Amino acid sequence: MKMTLGLLAQFTVTVFAAEFAAGFVHWLEDAYIRDHTPLIGRLVGRPNTAHHHYPRHMTRHNWWQSSWDLVLFAAILVAGAWGCGLLTWHIWLFALLAANANEFHKWEHRTRKENGQLISFLQDIKILQTGKHHARHHTDPKNSHYCTITNLLNPLLDTLHFWDGLEWLLSKTIGLHRQPDTSVRGCGPGPAWLAEFRPQPARARNHLPSNDKTLSSHQPA
Ligand SMILES: [Zn+2]
Ligand SMILES: [Zn+2]
Repeated sequence: MKMTLGLLAQFTVTVFAAEFAAGFVHWLEDAYIRDHTPLIGRLVGRPNTAHHHYPRHMTRHNWWQSSWDLVLFAAILVAGAWGCGLLTWHIWLFALLAANANEFHKWEHRTRKENGQLISFLQDIKILQTGKHHARHHTDPKNSHYCTITNLLNPLLDTLHFWDGLEWLLSKTIGLHRQPDTSVRGCGPGPAWLAEFRPQPARARNHLPSNDKTLSSHQPA
């Protein structure tokens, strides 16, 4: 019994550690990384900014498109732990969850029909974060609810003003200030390149001439 409780506690701590790590990366992106950020701006800042303007765009991505960067991070972690002789089930679980954090996030933006019965059920019983919970991240001023795996960690971090405190600390110590979010009302307009992420109205798609429809269906996702 004692051993079972111990394992359960380790499992829970590992899940929350993975959720916190993924939330931390999300906060870093939202607070400081933009299209013009050197090196990673275009690769990381651009899709992140686009997600705040057009949240449903990510639902068009497959698993690899959503997760490649986190999979890379998880692979480095597993390889490093293996190299140091520290590869336990905790590391595997942490890596598995962290690598799929964007996939869980994507499920929060999909409809129940798109998610299917199993994912919808896991969201209903709150094993996975619900779309309703994540919607608060997309509510102005969009500076809370960064974690995307369960509904449990965000209330704690946001009540403690954890992210606000971290931003305050960084601004006071190294002069790093939060960047404006152009998707927040009054902070726009967004950059011109956002046009490529803008959803095409169904009416416009349906009224294209037949040859244009063919062209349209070959547009990159
Ligand atoms: Zn965000
Ligand atoms: Zn989102």
